[in-house]
Amino acid sequence: MTPILNRSMRRILILFLMIIPAFLHAQETGIERIEPPFWWTGFKNNRIQLMVYGKNIASTQVKIDNVGVSVIKTEKVTNPNYLFITLDIATARPGKFNIIFLKGKEKTVTYSYELKARKPGSSARKGFNPSDVIYLLMPDRFANGDTTNDNVPGMAESVNRKFTDGRHGGDIRGIVQHLDYLRDLGITTLWITPLLENDQPIYSYHGYSTTDYYKIDPRFGNNQDYIDLAEVIHHRGMKMIMDMIFNHCGSGHWWMKDLPSPDWINEWPEFTRTSYRAGTVTDPYASKHDSTIYVKGWFDKTMPDLNQHNPFLMTYLIQNSIWWVEYAGLDGIRQDTYAYPFKDMMAEWGKAILTEYPDFNIVGECWVNYPATLAYWQKDSRNRDGYDSWLPAVFDFPLYDALQKCFNEPEGWNTGIMRLYEILSQDFSYSNPSNLVTFADNHDVNRYFDTQGEDIRKMKMAMAFVLTARGIPQIFYGTEILLTTGDDKGHGNIRKDFPGGWYDNAQNAFTSAGRTPIENDMFSYLKTLLNWRKTKEVIHTGKFRHFIPSDGIYTYFRYSAKETVMVVMNNNDTEKTLETSRFNEFLKDFSTGWDVITGKPVAKLTRLTLPAKSTLILELKQ
Ligand code: CA
Repeated sequence: MTPILNRSMRRILILFLMIIPAFLHAQETGIERIEPPFWWTGFKNNRIQLMVYGKNIASTQVKIDNVGVSVIKTEKVTNPNYLFITLDIATARPGKFNIIFLKGKEKTVTYSYELKARKPGSSARKGFNPSDVIYLLMPDRFANGDTTNDNVPGMAESVNRKFTDGRHGGDIRGIVQHLDYLRDLGITTLWITPLLENDQPIYSYHGYSTTDYYKIDPRFGNNQDYIDLAEVIHHRGMKMIMDMIFNHCGSGHWWMKDLPSPDWINEWPEFTRTSYRAGTVTDPYASKHDSTIYVKGWFDKTMPDLNQHNPFLMTYLIQNSIWWVEYAGLDGIRQDTYAYPFKDMMAEWGKAILTEYPDFNIVGECWVNYPATLAYWQKDSRNRDGYDSWLPAVFDFPLYDALQKCFNEPEGWNTGIMRLYEILSQDFSYSNPSNLVTFADNHDVNRYFDTQGEDIRKMKMAMAFVLTARGIPQIFYGTEILLTTGDDKGHGNIRKDFPGGWYDNAQNAFTSAGRTPIENDMFSYLKTLLNWRKTKEVIHTGKFRHFIPSDGIYTYFRYSAKETVMVVMNNNDTEKTLETSRFNEFLKDFSTGWDVITGKPVAKLTRLTLPAKSTLILELKQ
């Protein structure tokens, strides 16, 4: 036999030795799951709820063989296959202990549970903030780094790249392989759309139908791959945001076959879809009918609506978030469909996380188009009904709406560039305008380049604005290479494969040689701006002041005691010369400027010449 065969045989033997005890253990326990699968000592909240799932587990009594851990209560629900155990771990030490399930005095099952030690400084982590720029990517569509996981036996959906709404095979390894590309572009933070298991027969690629809250989908990798991803991201000085969904789960979720209790989800006599009208939550005149349908209606037939008013479920969801923050060392959470669940429970969720991680950041998707409505959802908002969401950040959908229109329409009293001015003028509504996440597009809307008639000048103006105005900018993957949707504007095409992410792609847009001249033009523009922004404190934390747009030209300043940046946007289709005496409250202290994009000095600030549809970004010098 060759040495290779010997090694293979040894491997098989080791595998057998590993499987046999695990098999015996499973037989012996009769417990299918305990979630969370492990926990940590040292949290402020020193109680933990274990959801135990196993045949007739509710008929057992629970004993713990550790003096530092005590059972506060064990609770049964409608379904005898579930038992909820609440433990006090205030005096527990890190390590393993046994949970013993008894029938009378007889042991039926023993389960070894682990409490890990937290990493030093874990509570003090800082979340993403205005010094960051977020890159939103869909793992299935970004890069396929491992073709061996494209199809996983036993899972409901296989790869089909010909189907725009099918799985295309991208994965965690694909992201890892392109982290240097993203860092060099100037990205500081990744928002990766959900990676948790989505064992659904169709549309599983998007990841918004969770079927296991504690498991990375094997077609993306495994839990360890996710932890490693966080580590290599952090190693590059970058941050990672996890996308979470508590409004609904997937119809293929394991608990849907055997629900803990009928009120685990919001059931209707017949399928009832949500109205998607988030305004019903804040509308003082909303009817009960409309309010109920919005909150309790299902997002889709394949997305059962979770009832967060069930206390066991709510604790489960809160612990799930903390588990991932601690386990992966997250720098932020993006909460999907934020306004759809019961708002009191979402506040409890946010409060629980911020209690453990006071400087953490969470951004919620509240898709509303008016600043007043959006402001309601931000933490510390002075709402008349006294509601505080405990949600630090919200996506700036009103600004997105303005960006869609402002470069495409004629200048008027309240049209054109005036829209951007008007949006920022309403920042008095927000408790913290600089913690708004700003964007021109995302994975749910048409790509910005498409909406602007594929005019690169408008694209650059939008990027210049989000990267120099207040807020935390978010850029959708492919923006840097002007990715287009094509004629079919469906979600599947908005979320097109990044060219170069698949071994058989004719184009590799991850390299400058693989990009067309216009793609390189956009790439260079963003790279210059992003890398400049990275170290510009005046953009991160400086104040903002603007002047009423005039003649289609909008001028604003970012300033601090140390620095001043002047931004001028010309929304006209013609070159313009701007007399600047109106801006003397800022310009009186400066004589020259430095053009951030061209890297060239501007000798005189009294008159500025602006090409058609362009933005001038000047660092002012004395
Ligand atoms: Ca793959």
